[in-house]
Amino acid sequence: MTIDRFENEDDKQRYLDWRKRNPNGFVLNINTWNPKLTMYKNIIHRASGCSSLDTPPNINRDRPVTHEHPKLCSTDLNELVAEMENKDLPYKTCDLCKPKVN
Ligand SMILES: [Zn+2]
Repeated sequence: MTIDRFENEDDKQRYLDWRKRNPNGFVLNINTWNPKLTMYKNIIHRASGCSSLDTPPNINRDRPVTHEHPKLCSTDLNELVAEMENKDLPYKTCDLCKPKVN
């Protein structure tokens, strides 16, 4: 298992393709790389079926890849959780799509 990282605008199509290929996978939306910023949490979504991920950029930070909000994708939810815990970053699962380990 590996985490696929999509970190800038040029990755947008690869990111969308990844979600299509891995409908049972998970997308971690990065809101902060700073462990001390407690007002933000990084949010884990299901790769398919979450309206939040496809909401237009101006109203939602879970929008398709931007430099400010990189996406980490994996078919293993635990792998994304481990990545956050290794880096001591705050995270939660999305309230809309409620990802769970398959
Ligand atoms: Zn979601």
